[in-house]
Amino acid sequence: MRSPILGIKIDVDTYRGMREGVPALIRILAAHKIRASFFVSMGPDNSGKAVLRFFTKRGFLKKMLRSNAVGMYGIRTALSGTLLPARQIARSFPELFRELIAQGHEVGIHGFDHVRWHDRLSRMSYEETAKEIGKASRIYTELVGWDAECSAAPGWTCSPHQLAIQDATGMIYHSDSRGTRPFFPIMNGKRYRHLQIPTTLPTLDELLGSDTFHGADDLTRYYLDRIAVPSLHIITIHAEAEGMAWVKWFDALLGVLQGKGVQFMRIREIAEDSLADPDRVSHCELLMGNLPGRAGLVAIQQIQEPTRRVEY
Ligand SMILES: [Zn+2]
Repeated sequence: MRSPILGIKIDVDTYRGMREGVPALIRILAAHKIRASFFVSMGPDNSGKAVLRFFTKRGFLKKMLRSNAVGMYGIRTALSGTLLPARQIARSFPELFRELIAQGHEVGIHGFDHVRWHDRLSRMSYEETAKEIGKASRIYTELVGWDAECSAAPGWTCSPHQLAIQDATGMIYHSDSRGTRPFFPIMNGKRYRHLQIPTTLPTLDELLGSDTFHGADDLTRYYLDRIAVPSLHIITIHAEAEGMAWVKWFDALLGVLQGKGVQFMRIREIAEDSLADPDRVSHCELLMGNLPGRAGLVAIQQIQEPTRRVEY
């Protein structure tokens, strides 16, 4: 691989992220002539339920202050689905779907109810999981006009039922996990057929949640050092963060990365490259585990053999 490749995965978790973050990201991506992969929560914004849950957990206040969560998400979002009714994220903005597609971005599914998926997936039956995926898929098809070709699990939360259902949907790929390179998943000893493209870099909120970073320059330096390595990188950003309070910083980061010769690809193209030669893609165990700076468990690709770089 001659130059570093970066796929930008943009998760849209909330109504406000869709209304304000997505248009801002469309503007800066257009200015840099970069195409990215957007994953939108298709159903209701129940963020207030997540905020309520956080209030009941130790360390909440510290985390809120460090990450400026209320500033980032806004008070309306913090109450959505509890004191105030849940707003529909995807169905409220059909014009944004058209705009994203017209600009050459890829649009996939980020669950139906982000909060419910994140909290309950591990306890959902096969039927409940299929219902959740089915509802999201129907809204996508209704808004976009064709069936979704990719999805990304809310909160990187995975279950064997979910992976089995994804095998049956026949989408091109899924980006549900954290890891180092494309793979076919194994969970609880069962091998699945669909391709996983994992996020390879820590997220902004994880870095902000650690004690190592003391400002925007630190964060820029960190991402530059990691992404300048000639390899395949996938970053997950959030419409609610890099599209809002951190949008200027993210805009500048893209400029710095372009100056260093980083090439940008939509994740779909990365997936198609992998699927062109599936024998080079290994099966890897997917385990729910902890990552620094992140509360709760996420699906992590396990690498057993010595790491081989995947060439693109
Ligand atoms: Zn999300």
